[in-house]
Amino acid sequence: MVKWLLDLIFGKKTKKMLNIILFGPPGSGKGTQASLLKDKFNLIHISTGDLFRYEIGNKTTLGREAKSFMDNGELVPDRITIGMLQNKMDKHLDSNGFILDGFPRTINQSEALDKIFQERSISISGLVSLKVEENELVNRLLERGKTSGRTDDADEEIIRNRIKVYHDQTSPVYNYYDKLGLSCTIDGLGSIDDIFARLSDAFERLS
Ligand code: AMP
Repeated sequence: MVKWLLDLIFGKKTKKMLNIILFGPPGSGKGTQASLLKDKFNLIHISTGDLFRYEIGNKTTLGREAKSFMDNGELVPDRITIGMLQNKMDKHLDSNGFILDGFPRTINQSEALDKIFQERSISISGLVSLKVEENELVNRLLERGKTSGRTDDADEEIIRNRIKVYHDQTSPVYNYYDKLGLSCTIDGLGSIDDIFARLSDAFERLS
């Protein structure tokens, strides 16, 4: 952060970053694909869900605050989520860019992200959304729940609530970036390799 600020003050050109929001409902494959894409494009993968699970695992105050929302498939309040995301991003401002997985999930989070980016003189390259229909999502998540150990993957009612929360609170985020000409949709059905190839093309176009 300090080096980056000094570079900015003394006029060294800010490095162009590739900052992509990997978007889509729970179970659409964002996490799986982000870990492949981060290697291919040399980016930092930030999953807010993973950050929360890390905090819960370490029994921190933040983890304790987040847990009950996550267990019920509800969103963790913005006041907790946005600060956590910002701290993580600030550790990697000298990277080639970010894949944001699971953030922003509300319009308020999108506006906060705009502000975070503006203050750091960086910008969003685009939002890439994975499209998968609801029954397929539920099947995938129930299957994942057999091994993930995630409470929110184990119960169909909670899974359906997560999908509802996505439709009600998160899907408007797509339009928020679409109005700026930054959103695109990718077919999220098929083999991991096929989907990776489609996403890689989309990332290349944004590079
Ligand atoms: P995920 O791993 O992305 O499926 O997220 C798991 C859970 O973490 C979600 O159901 C929410 O409870 C919480 N969560 C993750 N990201 C966010 C976010 N950006 N805003 C609010 N809650 C979040």
